[in-house]
Amino acid sequence: MSIESDKTRPEKPGEKNCPGCGIPYDETAVSAAMRTCPACGWHYRMEPAERIAYLADKDSFTEFSANLRSLNPIDLTGYEKKLSEAEEKARMKDAVVTGTCTVEGRPLILGVMSFQFMGGSMGSVVGEKVCRALLKGAEEKTPVLIYTTSGGARMQEGIFSLLQMAKTSSAAAELDKSKVPFFIMLCDPTTGGVTASFAMLADVILAEPGALIGFAGPRVIEGTIRQSLPEGFQRAEFQRDKGFVDTIVPRKDQRKIISTLIDLHSHPAS
Ligand SMILES: [Zn+2]
Repeated sequence: MSIESDKTRPEKPGEKNCPGCGIPYDETAVSAAMRTCPACGWHYRMEPAERIAYLADKDSFTEFSANLRSLNPIDLTGYEKKLSEAEEKARMKDAVVTGTCTVEGRPLILGVMSFQFMGGSMGSVVGEKVCRALLKGAEEKTPVLIYTTSGGARMQEGIFSLLQMAKTSSAAAELDKSKVPFFIMLCDPTTGGVTASFAMLADVILAEPGALIGFAGPRVIEGTIRQSLPEGFQRAEFQRDKGFVDTIVPRKDQRKIISTLIDLHSHPAS
């Protein structure tokens, strides 16, 4: 369940030209435009710290469950080393950050995944943190929004990683029962076990422009069905046209759209 690299999409900035329009990559200009191309709006991948900084109201984000760390439940050789390398690279303890914040003054429980941390794979810590975020939303009657980016289940944790699909799905059901809105923002790429569980269970499913969204990646599918796939296959726009995504929200509009959605889905206590 791992995502293969995709030639049409930059792994991260550092490539010389924008994949959307071909202009030379300029770190300052891209940074100033929320990591999008200032000429064509191409969305580069973004890590949790930057997302939280632009999405949450200033100084409103308070992280919870910050110290959860993965064990090595199936005693896989080399997994601990991989984890510490990932921790150093992404400067996070696992592939998701969760916390409370406000967006334009509206309280929100926010989870943001990191692709840099072992490809955003979902192991027991990601599953537990997503679960806690969803259950906290149910308990406190606060809307939940999760930004997803993932290559799928963390196979280094064997069955424990697959269990997270059922676990996060049942937490999403609890949130649903409590009538608290759940929003998802699918970011590039969201695949595998994350797509096959909580990422598709939100009340409103949003996506960033151009994000790859699917279960297996396009090359695996092409190899399996031995047919070439249509252009733009599994991109956010394709998935919107097919009904998997409700709407596509460019980064610059996300604060506005999210606060509007919170308002639209809130109802006075009765
Ligand atoms: Zn461009």
